[in-house]
Amino acid sequence: MKTTIRKCKDCSLYTLSVNCPRCGKETIMAIPPRFAPRDKFMKYRLMTEMEKNGKNPD
Ligand SMILES: [Zn+2]
Repeated sequence: MKTTIRKCKDCSLYTLSVNCPRCGKETIMAIPPRFAPRDKFMKYRLMTEMEKNGKNPD
């Protein structure tokens, strides 16, 4: 699976396109390549993020 989720820095819009469908600017990869599944710390990072998101909807 080569498709990568990308994100516009300006709109915070998630897209599969290289350019933002809203403003036309170049998007960045939403998930940095270094967050590989073999990263044993990733699950802790995710848990922390989920916990944060749960407590702070903002
Ligand atoms: Zn945009």
